Amino acid sequence: DTTHGAILYLESISVVFDGFKALNDLSLDIGVGELRCIIGPNGAGKTTMMDVITGKTKPTSGTAFFGQSIDLTKMHESQIADIGIGRKFQRPTVFEQHTVFENLELAMKMNKGVKSTLFSRLSGEQRDKIGETLELLRLTSEYQREAGLLSHGQKQWLEIGMLLMQEPLLLLLDEPVAGMTDAETERTGELLNDLRGKHSLVVVEHDMDFVTQIAQQGKVTVLCEGSVLAEGTMAQVQSDERVIEVYLGR
Ligand code: ADP
Repeated sequence: DTTHGAILYLESISVVFDGFKALNDLSLDIGVGELRCIIGPNGAGKTTMMDVITGKTKPTSGTAFFGQSIDLTKMHESQIADIGIGRKFQRPTVFEQHTVFENLELAMKMNKGVKSTLFSRLSGEQRDKIGETLELLRLTSEYQREAGLLSHGQKQWLEIGMLLMQEPLLLLLDEPVAGMTDAETERTGELLNDLRGKHSLVVVEHDMDFVTQIAQQGKVTVLCEGSVLAEGTMAQVQSDERVIEVYLGR
């Protein structure tokens, strides 16, 4: 049973907008600790899928299970965020006038469980956690810089770090390397590979070189016209004739 141990299980999800099926009987499961890449042509339904998972869009039919028993389609968007699903949108939203360290500190303190500590000093343990996260983000030497002065790529990493401070069970990333330089893209791949196994991640991405970099050890799902066209290793989906047709045909 492939759904055993799944952190997320989408079952026959359809989303209909004015008669148009943005998602068409989509079924998909993501394992605990997995880093899953979702690719597919424009209009394939990738954003709509992320919107269903986060409760922004309610499906016309189908269910979305988080863990074994939580039906996300019956929950409000804010409740879904509270139970541990974090989403990073394309544009970074950091506290520009606070330092890198303060951004992580604020994100940590806004975590629901510790909100009562918002005005208290960080414990040694919390400081260590921020220190480790700075290392992971490759931002240790920038910790005192104002976030607004960081490069676009560094801001994106900081925002991933801010999400991590919230201790999500599932992290959703929308085109994390859009607008990044090649060097930043590569470092982002290293960063995500470092998260593999420790966090469950769903990454929607257009940049194929980047997907190849992060899909080395994992699965890629190709969406097309609202459902799964192919799934497997990057090598498998890249040699799938239907996938080639969708990307190169037309
Ligand atoms: P992708 O992210 O893969 O490019 P989307 O999920 O954004 O695809 O869109 C899938 C299809 O659904 C597109 O054809 C898009 O025009 C349509 N769509 C998305 N959101 C809406 C909406 N709110 N109302 C009507 N149509 C929508």
